[in-house]
Amino acid sequence: MIFQQLFDQTSSTFTYLLARRSGGEALIVDPVFEHVDSYVSLCRRLDLKLVKAIDTHIHADHITGLGALRDITRCVTVMGERSGADVVSIRVKEDETIDVDGVELRTLFTPGHTDDSYSFLMDDRVFTGDALLIGGTGRTDFQNGDPYAAYDSLFNKLLKLPAESLVFPAHDYNGNTVSTIGYEQVHNPRLQVGSAEEYAEIMNNLKLANPKLMDVAVPANRALGKSLERFVRPGESVEAADLLQEQGEKKLVLIDLREKRERERDGWIPSSVHVPYGAIAEQLRPGGALERIARDYPGQVVLYCAYGERSAMALDTMRSAGFSGLRHLAGGIAGWLKSGGEVEVDR
Ligand code: FE
Repeated sequence: MIFQQLFDQTSSTFTYLLARRSGGEALIVDPVFEHVDSYVSLCRRLDLKLVKAIDTHIHADHITGLGALRDITRCVTVMGERSGADVVSIRVKEDETIDVDGVELRTLFTPGHTDDSYSFLMDDRVFTGDALLIGGTGRTDFQNGDPYAAYDSLFNKLLKLPAESLVFPAHDYNGNTVSTIGYEQVHNPRLQVGSAEEYAEIMNNLKLANPKLMDVAVPANRALGKSLERFVRPGESVEAADLLQEQGEKKLVLIDLREKRERERDGWIPSSVHVPYGAIAEQLRPGGALERIARDYPGQVVLYCAYGERSAMALDTMRSAGFSGLRHLAGGIAGWLKSGGEVEVDR
């Protein structure tokens, strides 16, 4: 198991790099923009392919590395379904699994610090974001923070985990690196309260200054979709409404790049072919499914995913590999549904 806890001095942020084995796929939690190059070289050194980047919530004190990592490594970005980010590849709901090559994270919705705060469980440990810190808890006074929701997340979710669960937060300001649920339950001063009202009373009277970077970081962290434009050339993007109309006029081949789990959860556009994003390189080799389809149906192939992020990256990858006349569905299946497109579900 590869488990690297990295630290950003400026914002006191922890970033976690996880992988089952050297030579395999890796996942990163809460990357910081300024360190993106060092994460990439670390992956190279450990012989890891970064395939997923996750943020626990929209951060207010640093700019996320999600967008830059995606742009450099073509990894998939992941956030919780309530995330305020404009575009991510995958949005996960409560109790869903995020996996890469032998590493599995389970989603726990833990709002309160912000309304889009998630924690992620992995084996014996939990990444708590800012929901639970070591000897503290995340403030609840901005980004729709709510001390009552925070109390519920802490007492009815995180503290219900086994006492020996390791706690890895998104920040520490005092030189701590890890704790346990059991230790925090007994020693964390914020958790020594008898009711939600008492907790709210503490949280509402902290009188903290706003993070220095807040006015820059929050909008930047919400605008992840902006730099996606680099992957798509004029004429390579099709809106859902136009695709619906085109479908009635000519034969199109739709390629669904999402994971099996997403297809089962949200359905798929009828008669589309499933080629998961992670399998593109393999399927583009001579004789691969994607290679054959792109060759046999020039000008008729439309790639799609959940929100248009993976399809934009795949478009660029395929164009670079010499395939032309491809398009992608802007806004993904989410846009398709909004435009009244039908989906097939296997139930
Ligand atoms: Fe935060």
